[in-house]
Amino acid sequence: MIQKILIANRGEIAIRVMRSCREMGIKSVAVYSDADRGSMHVRLADEAYHIGPSPSNESYLVADKIIDAAKKSGADAIHPGYGFLSENAEFSDRCKKEGIEFIGPDSFAINTMGDKITARQTMIKAGVPVVPGTTEPIVDEEKAIEYIHKIGLPVMIKASAGGGGKGMRLVKDAAEIVNSIHAARSEALNSFGNDAVYIEKYIDSPHHIEFQILADKQGNAVHLFERECSVQRRHQKVVEESPSPLMTQKVRTEMGKHAVKAAQAVNYYGAGTIEFIMDDNLNYYFLEMNTRLQVEHPVTEMVVGVDLVRQQINVANGLDLEFKQEDLFQKGHAIECRIYAEDADNNFMPSPGVIKHFREPLGLGIRHDGYVYSGYNIPLFYDPMISKLIVWAKSRDEAIKRMKGALYNYKITGIKTSIKFLERIMETKDFVDGKYNTHFIQENEKFLLSPKPSRPQDEDMAMVATFINYLDKLEKNSIQTATNGHASPWREFGRKRSIIRL
Ligand code: ADP
Repeated sequence: MIQKILIANRGEIAIRVMRSCREMGIKSVAVYSDADRGSMHVRLADEAYHIGPSPSNESYLVADKIIDAAKKSGADAIHPGYGFLSENAEFSDRCKKEGIEFIGPDSFAINTMGDKITARQTMIKAGVPVVPGTTEPIVDEEKAIEYIHKIGLPVMIKASAGGGGKGMRLVKDAAEIVNSIHAARSEALNSFGNDAVYIEKYIDSPHHIEFQILADKQGNAVHLFERECSVQRRHQKVVEESPSPLMTQKVRTEMGKHAVKAAQAVNYYGAGTIEFIMDDNLNYYFLEMNTRLQVEHPVTEMVVGVDLVRQQINVANGLDLEFKQEDLFQKGHAIECRIYAEDADNNFMPSPGVIKHFREPLGLGIRHDGYVYSGYNIPLFYDPMISKLIVWAKSRDEAIKRMKGALYNYKITGIKTSIKFLERIMETKDFVDGKYNTHFIQENEKFLLSPKPSRPQDEDMAMVATFINYLDKLEKNSIQTATNGHASPWREFGRKRSIIRL
């Protein structure tokens, strides 16, 4: 049985994994780069190993350094989190070779699902519906044009090795086809070192709906229902919820079965996600599989009541799944907001720097997966996501209200964050009505990006201003204050703050 896990990651996900380790009595080992010396994940781990300079290609992405730290610490398993080495088939193999358990699938599953063309071919064979399109890389551009005319515009030209929204082009006009193929190819080559691209029909009013999968090494597999991830900016998720407001029980059951089939087609084990795209008429198509834990996994945990990291560790230990499909059900509603250190009013520019004041919201049904604190200096080197705010409530309506309250009570000063932008999303009619697709942010941009009326986000300033006013009045009325003629420390504080602010 696994006794000690090295977490080959940083930030909120490293801390999230450690939480389950602690509950299970497993020791945790952190790794950190120069920029992460003061990071919370280092403080919370049982042991920590420095793995090099700040850029991730000199630290978190270097398999040798991770393996070396695992050996030094005597860790018997590695949890890769998401990003970095989590979907690296070579790294999965390398761990096996070194006698260290990789908490994730084997290289066959990662390779098959990591290449979109191979994944499409595999899904078709398994009887899982895929987006209409080609199943081979484009070689002959004339033939590609012919094919596009046959299935009709608009189409997507997509990189087979694509990820993170890169290497993807929407083509609406016949005159753009050739240029789009070239642009997608060169972006794919630059980003992934592989220029294979293929054609997919563009799904109108697309909804991004994904199913959480869990499978053990004995071939048992279940799904843990869906997550709706259609609130996206530049093909990146911003808000996720479960259940999907669009879903019907009939379609859910059918999609869940297809999701399990998709995972079984690659002998998958561990936690994984099958992503589908769905149109307004609830026709759905396989998009891709993510062979790791997702950023948005907490919404599933809240609604289904299962700790996914604990399950990953159980599977890595070779245990049978604890439950069958009929034991699982969705209860209530969960929403997750991704909090970014970025300036929504300035084209979402990253906003690194020192956090002056940090206070996360608390209360019934509120979960906060984060890693930053007052005084923490957010480094430039990594993803600007600083935390995830997750709420659970009995109904969707209550969950939205709870999220609004939680965002209101979330105080971060010193850097710009996306909190106000997220508050706006919670107030947007289409979101509140549950009638939105992946165009939601674009369609509601005017409302979402209009300046929010001032509110006591900087509540310390408002409080101080009121207090100074009060003291001035007292002084004017020649009433002796409790400070006996000395300047009030509060007043001094207020003056200092005002100077800093102005
Ligand atoms: P990546 O692997 O780069 O994240 P995906 O294939 O998962 O790319 O697609 C990311 C997002 O792009 C989807 O969630 C969806 O919003 C949009 N998208 C992808 N393919 C299509 C399609 N065929 N039709 C409409 N939208 C699509």
